Amino acid sequence: MKLFTFKGGVHPSENKVQTENEAIQTFDAPKMVHVALLQHIGAPLNALVKPGDRVLKGQKIADSEAFMSAPVHSSVSGVVKKIEFLPFPLSGKVNTIIIENDGEEELAELTTIKDWKSAPKEDLLAMIREKGIVGVGGACFPTHIKLNPPKDVTIDTLVMNGAECEPYLNADNRLMLEDPKSIIEGIKIIMHILGVKNAKIGIENNKPEAIASMIKASEGDNGIEVCPLKTQYPQGGEKQLIKAILDREVPSGKLPSAVGVVVQNTATAALVYEGIVKGMPLIEKVVTISGKAIKKPMNLKVRIGTMFRDMLDYAGVEREDVDKLVMGGPMMGMAQHSEDVPVVKGTSGLLALTTAETNPCKAKNCILCGKCIGACPMGLEPLMYAKLAKFNQWEEMGKYKLMDCISCGSCSYICPANRPLTEAINIGKAKLRAMPRK
Ligand code: SF4
Ligand code: SF4
Repeated sequence: MKLFTFKGGVHPSENKVQTENEAIQTFDAPKMVHVALLQHIGAPLNALVKPGDRVLKGQKIADSEAFMSAPVHSSVSGVVKKIEFLPFPLSGKVNTIIIENDGEEELAELTTIKDWKSAPKEDLLAMIREKGIVGVGGACFPTHIKLNPPKDVTIDTLVMNGAECEPYLNADNRLMLEDPKSIIEGIKIIMHILGVKNAKIGIENNKPEAIASMIKASEGDNGIEVCPLKTQYPQGGEKQLIKAILDREVPSGKLPSAVGVVVQNTATAALVYEGIVKGMPLIEKVVTISGKAIKKPMNLKVRIGTMFRDMLDYAGVEREDVDKLVMGGPMMGMAQHSEDVPVVKGTSGLLALTTAETNPCKAKNCILCGKCIGACPMGLEPLMYAKLAKFNQWEEMGKYKLMDCISCGSCSYICPANRPLTEAINIGKAKLRAMPRK
């Protein structure tokens, strides 16, 4: 079997075995859901409801007129109890609508476009926005914007990210095994919107059953091809996928559209199908719960707004053993300081890691081994960024393509001196973003 790959990267312990054979379980809707009003890259939303209002499952409850935004919907039927500024997993606090679930599961009226093949692209994009769909591979970029590239670029290929290269996570893997048809139908809708005839689905070869499942589900669909990828982190990075599958280099500072490509996550494709054909907004999410402190690692379908604490209690957790709680994977996930934060659209994993897994070691002096440079999938020099960051040379960092860094963590992972390279780089990126543009 031909395996596609890219240059650089690392091979962290996969730790997939704990949940790869665990079928997706549905977690009962909780008594209270906490729906955060910022679950996408872009502007926070404004509430469309107030305390005391009764809301239905799937009802839009917050939206914004900002270009870069996607609405949120109630994941239960019930009554709005409060709207408060509360901690959420993407750091800091955000306005949050708290809804008491009445257990009725009463659905809002759901609009659909069943005959999507004859629907104008604009109507489908508007529907995708209305259903609150964002890229659930982690970035949470509003999908209707990504599927509407500038008119002066020609897109010829859709690349689907089924790599799920982060250790521990199996949410996408299980979806490809258990519901491949929804993914394929979503891919066909996206191809129709983009007007492309080719879609390539990249899946790492540590998921042979998912590869077989997607090949079977796409049989007879000309133009959709499954591309097995070498298991190599960060194979799921957009630019890495495009290089691996199409041998195209996205130029520094440019988007995939610059080389005629749009990249989407496989789980997002399933959401597009659910939204357009069944009318269901993005109100639930498959989340892998794993880590050595978890008693029963599992894949759980949960309502948006479910608290991490409830999921950890369900899976069983040895709280005294938890060194680090992480939303997402261990390489690019976000450390959590509290269990009392809700699932958001970008929650793909919840890891309760012990010290044996986090392996906390003191940073030592750089030994100039160059391993960080060899591991960087973007061809950058992490070592130099760390030196410049030490002297607050943020602008200088920018001159060396700092903003090309995808924060994959490969440099920190490989460093034998445990230098906090990614941390220094992320600070540098935040400083650069905050600087006034010249
Ligand atoms: S510099 Fe950025 S892109 Fe390169 S390995 Fe480090 S975190 Fe990844
Ligand atoms: S990997 Fe670590 S020790 Fe080696 S050059 Fe890079 S920063 Fe220095």
